[in-house]
Amino acid sequence: MSFPSLRSLSRARSTISKAPSPAEAQSDEFRPFVDRHLEAIKPLPPITLLNLPGRVIWFNVIVITTTPLLSLYGIFTTRAVAQTVLFSIAFYVWNMLGITAGYHRLWSHRSYNATKPLQYFLATAGAGAVQGSIKWWSRSHRAHHRYTDTDLDPYGAHHGLFWSHIGWMLVKPSTRPGPADISDLKQNPVVDWQHRWFFVLALFFGGFVPAAVPGLLWDDWRGGLFFAGFLRLTCVHHSTFCVNSLAHWLGNTTFDDKLSPRDHLLTAIVTLGEGYHNFHHQFPIDYRNAVKWYQWDPTKWFIATCSYIGLASHLRRFPDVEVKKSMLTMQLKSLKAEVDRILWPPSSNDLPVISWNNFQAQSRSRPLIVISGFIHDMSDFLDQHPGGRRLLVQNIGKDATASFLGGVYDHSHAAQNLLATMRVGVLHGGLEHIDELAIPPCQRLQIVKWSGAVHSGCSAGM
Ligand SMILES: [Zn+2]
Ligand SMILES: [Zn+2]
Repeated sequence: MSFPSLRSLSRARSTISKAPSPAEAQSDEFRPFVDRHLEAIKPLPPITLLNLPGRVIWFNVIVITTTPLLSLYGIFTTRAVAQTVLFSIAFYVWNMLGITAGYHRLWSHRSYNATKPLQYFLATAGAGAVQGSIKWWSRSHRAHHRYTDTDLDPYGAHHGLFWSHIGWMLVKPSTRPGPADISDLKQNPVVDWQHRWFFVLALFFGGFVPAAVPGLLWDDWRGGLFFAGFLRLTCVHHSTFCVNSLAHWLGNTTFDDKLSPRDHLLTAIVTLGEGYHNFHHQFPIDYRNAVKWYQWDPTKWFIATCSYIGLASHLRRFPDVEVKKSMLTMQLKSLKAEVDRILWPPSSNDLPVISWNNFQAQSRSRPLIVISGFIHDMSDFLDQHPGGRRLLVQNIGKDATASFLGGVYDHSHAAQNLLATMRVGVLHGGLEHIDELAIPPCQRLQIVKWSGAVHSGCSAGM
């Protein structure tokens, strides 16, 4: 086995890092896929009042509008039986797990492996949530991740909160979702079985079972129909829809701010833990949405429990160090923004160079003192000097570097920062006696943007 020579490595490196020529940059290879795809397809015309009836998906409209209306009717006309209420909550959690632990984290993102029993448990739970089959749902969701915030994203947040919540399901969109690979799902027998029997399964687990269990076991057919049936289904629908709408609108960009996903506890509460969506879009292969132990993520706890009892395995986690890097980047970005809002002392490049004679002459009309090569105007500070006015007056027109740095008193970092704000000039031929003092302590650790570093020549030699 031979190793490449240093010369060939450096040649390879220069080839890789070579920027595209203007002609190359114009070629398709260097243009974003989304732009090329949008140019290649023929989108439908924008939706208007005139073409709206032809674009409406009536089946979805009927399901989405009648379930909350029937729920409201049930709430005001049906007696709430304790067992039925508890059963409805349990059924809601089961359906939600079908979507969050099944449709989303298992089948859309392959964030863990599940045994057949667990897959059937989640596939039937997801069918009872009545949101389409695993195959259809995961295909849309993979397109959502691949084309987030573009016109190829089926529920792109850039179209507004209503569109990303339910609008995208109610009408035929102008642009179909972008291509997404689901070849792995096509080979999964559970996914295939659920897709083939979806309407039967949805009717059975979404309608019949929730109504029949309270009816058969404690004779509450009406409560079963309205509470465990329609009201539970309405809650399941809108909880899930919040992952597409609320999670792209409310909260913090903890790990990245390039796209719209956000982290928020409220979204996590209504979505069984899917609310740390900023994390999820950065690390979609991770079986967790919440990385901190105190953050609300019941779906993560469910998957971990399944792993503990042998129903799940290969739980995938993004390396902690990568998670930390993303978080630190955002923290530094926020610090940089805060730093940029502060007025900092002038640097020597922005100050006039003043000769010793000129400094002496100007010192007769105002209290100027040289410290470490910088000329400082003490006019507003004479009476505020903690060591007393006399010490400063004694040094007017003189170089007080030694006194400032311990000859009289070894000043604090805060004092050095304050002193730097009084700079009015640089002494011609004057030396920065103590290198460190030229840069006040508050400016020694700076957050520099890459573009700023390149412009200031920091990248030279890289
Ligand atoms: Zn996802
Ligand atoms: Zn999203």
